[in-house]
Amino acid sequence: MRPVRRGASPREVDYTDYTEAKPDLVARLGAYCSFCERPIATQLAVEHVQPKSVAEYAHLIGRWENFLLACVNCNSTKGSKDVQPAHVFLPDRDNTFVAFDYLPDGTVNAGQTAVDAGVEQVANASLALTGLDKAALNTPDENGRQVALDRVRQRMEAWLVAEQANVDLAADADAGVLREYVAKLAASTGFFSVWMTVFEDDADMRRRLILKFPGTDASGCFDRANGSPVTPCPNLDGLEAGGKI
Ligand SMILES: [Zn+2]
Repeated sequence: MRPVRRGASPREVDYTDYTEAKPDLVARLGAYCSFCERPIATQLAVEHVQPKSVAEYAHLIGRWENFLLACVNCNSTKGSKDVQPAHVFLPDRDNTFVAFDYLPDGTVNAGQTAVDAGVEQVANASLALTGLDKAALNTPDENGRQVALDRVRQRMEAWLVAEQANVDLAADADAGVLREYVAKLAASTGFFSVWMTVFEDDADMRRRLILKFPGTDASGCFDRANGSPVTPCPNLDGLEAGGKI
């Protein structure tokens, strides 16, 4: 999960129609699902961290600080589950990049950093919240080819694209133009954490990736000199239970 900073609300009062927050959120966070990191051109929904359908959180329905962006899969899996920020890692207040490990086969697990810190359960609860721990679906098209319908396989495809870009760059590592092109390719492919994992030994590319995805540099979760993760998240907006990792 890509760490992001939402920042101060563009409005002085709560949104009367929360759907109006979408362009403001896209401007701050980019058009990606806040949970699975997919780029979503359409059907990206304003996501309530604490669900609007739960009476206890009804007053947060138009509250900027309660908004993220989510795809239909993550949104529907999360549904009306009670979300208590102390019990899950959230991309607006924790360093959710180190909370999880991304593997070449498209799976996401509790990160080694979370395991070492004894908060593996929090990481697993976060994956279960939006179903990121689900296995891949094998869905052949009419020609028998496997189609990337689900988040796991799309993540795996992003990994292959990133890995090829890494190989291409190695052949011409000083090419600034090519590096910027790869960063743009990453932004259009999505899956920030996959790209950051593949380029873990390339500080220059990590910095370019951090800058290319809106809201991530502002999160303070990455060192501005070398792109290394900063933990715990500095939780610059002072959100409830932030900075757990
Ligand atoms: Zn999603």
